[in-house]
Amino acid sequence: MPITVVGSIAYDAVKTPFGERERMLGGAAVHFALAASFFEDVRVVGPVGDDFGEPQLDVMRSRGVDVSDIERVSGGKTFFWRGEYGWDLNSRETLDTQLGVFDGFQPKLSERSRTSEVLFLANIVPDLQIEVREQLPHARFVALDSMNLWIDIARDQLVRAIESVDCLILNDAELRQLTGKPNLVSAAREVLAWGARGNGSGADTSTAGQRGPSVIVAKQGEYGAALVTSESFFALPAYPLESVIDPTGAGDTFAGGFVGYIAAHPEEELSDELLRRAMAHGTALASFNVEEFGTERIERLTGEEIAARVEELREITHFSGAPLKLRA
Ligand code: AMP
Repeated sequence: MPITVVGSIAYDAVKTPFGERERMLGGAAVHFALAASFFEDVRVVGPVGDDFGEPQLDVMRSRGVDVSDIERVSGGKTFFWRGEYGWDLNSRETLDTQLGVFDGFQPKLSERSRTSEVLFLANIVPDLQIEVREQLPHARFVALDSMNLWIDIARDQLVRAIESVDCLILNDAELRQLTGKPNLVSAAREVLAWGARGNGSGADTSTAGQRGPSVIVAKQGEYGAALVTSESFFALPAYPLESVIDPTGAGDTFAGGFVGYIAAHPEEELSDELLRRAMAHGTALASFNVEEFGTERIERLTGEEIAARVEELREITHFSGAPLKLRA
């Protein structure tokens, strides 16, 4: 099932203990699209300024990503983000966010982008996520990511956006912040209840705005990711790497692998089995992303490398039954 993604298309300035880049290709939609392109056709929606170069578009084109709905706004400036990481890469400070051409952007999706059966609302202003969601009312699977900035300044719109999707993918700290619940599992259950509220009304669940998430993925950085549905819980650690250079975009790359894997299985229902395999693919993709700055590693990644890492993850996380009679 082809995938449409809307979200930031950016220039990033990033400093980590291992180096820095002043102006590299970034943005949530870009990281997502590159990862998802290993599984399905991907169409990117969003604006860039006239400072956005052809070489950056070529990075996406060379992975077969459809960039025809990326609108160049003349006289405008591309979204810009500057961040700096602490010594163990676990903490990150945002030093600057400039919305540029995203400020007041009205998305006009082509017929092609509107026919995608899978939609990913990557991190961006929640109002824009809602506008794009409304243009794909019949999408079969819709997922959304966001971040603390939007919880802080646009919570109501964000909640409205979340209520219109099937799957919420969020950092665990942000899931706690969003719900005000200090416990991860109860925070996830709270958002699942928003979904149950929509579906419980007897509404047509295929219509935008009348359903809510039935799948929650909590991203936990170097500790991996957890999956919560109303019936189940599953978690995977991150792939154990000895050298991590730049975590920027890891979450979006995870989402690209996760959603991409689901999109590549149109005949399968959204079972736990499918979701768990999707988690493994997201985890594998994210682990490659952090090995180098920005999109550098993913640009030369191969499908064989991804498959091998998924297999390694399977071995790392497997354990046998332990039928030992324990002492009273
Ligand atoms: P991640 O490391 O997965 O959280 O994503 C990092 C990417 O998100 C960077 O490439 C940034 O360009 C982009 N980004 C940072 N802040 C925002 C924001 N407020 N809205 C949308 N995208 C953002």
